[in-house]
Amino acid sequence: MELISIALLDEAQWPARLGETPGQEEADAPATRPGARWRCASCAQVIASPEDGLAIGGHHEHAFCNPHGYLYRVGCFGEARGLAPVGEETLAWSWFAGFAWTIMVCGVCDTHLGWRYRASSGGRVFFGLILDRLALGEASDALD
Ligand SMILES: [Zn+2]
Repeated sequence: MELISIALLDEAQWPARLGETPGQEEADAPATRPGARWRCASCAQVIASPEDGLAIGGHHEHAFCNPHGYLYRVGCFGEARGLAPVGEETLAWSWFAGFAWTIMVCGVCDTHLGWRYRASSGGRVFFGLILDRLALGEASDALD
């Protein structure tokens, strides 16, 4: 899997919602049915809608290694719910240059599901969610 590093994002690079801009932004977006929801794979808490997906640097999905060599497949989302922040926000080792991150866990079962990213200039926020810890389900499933 290709590792992608992201330079400082400026306004022109700021992502559009998936589907708003024709072109490559949709290329790696997961194919989903209307009404589908991303859920915590451990407890089925609803976390995000596929429509919340963002393309950052032209891609919705990114692959990163943390300093311990652990590989994460991360999907970018403009909004997420059902999450709780853990610890302090920091710019250290940020995968998205210029964005400070906070660990986000499932608000129900405490599974680590990703990170919230906040621009150090301007305060814009998005979520990077660990796709292998989410499951795509129907909106009408239990617990919605
Ligand atoms: Zn959970």
